[in-house]
Amino acid sequence: MTDTPNRDQWLAALRERINEVSPAEAFGRQAAGALLIDVREDAERTSGTPVGAHGLSRSFLELRIEALEPVRSRDILLLCGSGQRSLLAAEALQRLGYTRVSSVAGGFHAWKAAALPTVVGAMDVDAAERYSRQMLLPQVGEAGQATLAQSRVVIIGVGGLGSPAMLYLAAAGVGHLTLIDDDRVERSNLHRQVVHTDSRVGMPKAESARMTLLALNPRITVDVRLERLQADNVEDLLRGHHLVVDGADNFATRYLLAAATRRLSLPMVYAAIERFTGQVSVFDPRNDTSPCYRCLFPEPPSAADAPNCSEAGVLGVLPGVVGLLQATEALKMLLDMGEKLIGRLLTYDALLMRFRELRLPRDPECPGCGAHAHFAGYVDLERMCSAAG
Ligand SMILES: [Zn+2]
Repeated sequence: MTDTPNRDQWLAALRERINEVSPAEAFGRQAAGALLIDVREDAERTSGTPVGAHGLSRSFLELRIEALEPVRSRDILLLCGSGQRSLLAAEALQRLGYTRVSSVAGGFHAWKAAALPTVVGAMDVDAAERYSRQMLLPQVGEAGQATLAQSRVVIIGVGGLGSPAMLYLAAAGVGHLTLIDDDRVERSNLHRQVVHTDSRVGMPKAESARMTLLALNPRITVDVRLERLQADNVEDLLRGHHLVVDGADNFATRYLLAAATRRLSLPMVYAAIERFTGQVSVFDPRNDTSPCYRCLFPEPPSAADAPNCSEAGVLGVLPGVVGLLQATEALKMLLDMGEKLIGRLLTYDALLMRFRELRLPRDPECPGCGAHAHFAGYVDLERMCSAAG
């Protein structure tokens, strides 16, 4: 014989110490002012939670209960999936001095079986606080925030444009970011690529960026692809996303992006910079009137005409401004709000501090999207610099 109780004995002992209530009784007490907390993990709650329940996952319960409910005598009801984790959670709250804690027997499973009201996509305490200022905007709200959480954005290039864009997209709660870059952090990058730090010189840029983004917002996921976008991987790398942020620094990548976004029907937020000027536009192949990148630049420049990357200087703040314009357009596209930069080319001159807007109609003769456009496979061009990144 052993003194160690088996699981059932242990749960039975727990039930003797913790008050359990049926879902119907919990619903009634909630209406009378009790606080109902769903202690399941974020991912479990996305498919539904009791109406009016606060989401606070078991792993953060002790850390955050005080912020949610400082009054130890409040009537608190805890709910999980089947009614076991909530017993443990209740015991934890009792240890913290909460005196009126109950566990909902049978958990959310029993709640649904009792046909009590539920809501889908409810937000937990961390998210409600983190995104409160942008959710106050009626154009965003809780529904928009949920849309962002489910959005998958791929950022090409963790450089001057990608850095500021990804910082704000992560902060805004875009749920999944994929970073594609095969370079390593160099000290000369740091004056504009602010997602990196001095101590990370030599580290792969995408990995360095991932560390910063997750420190800023641990709720999102960040995939790192230490690859260069090429003819043989471009579709695989882009597929499965909702939007492309083009932070590329060369024409070869841009022409690949132009072709692949068209074939995959992916909107692309384009930007390029040079010295003190930048330009931004949005190409959306799902929109019949939208131009594509090749409506703007039909053919790649010759190697002789392209600027040399290492020689072209850039003021660090310039990609900051332009990258944030890209992030703004990305959020507008994901949330389907405002007037998108489709069919318009916005240019920015930092020395004159002047924005200009040029009409950018779709070109019926465009080699990329026009009536006679013909896709003959992806082509790896020579990596000529286009002075971004
Ligand atoms: Zn076109």
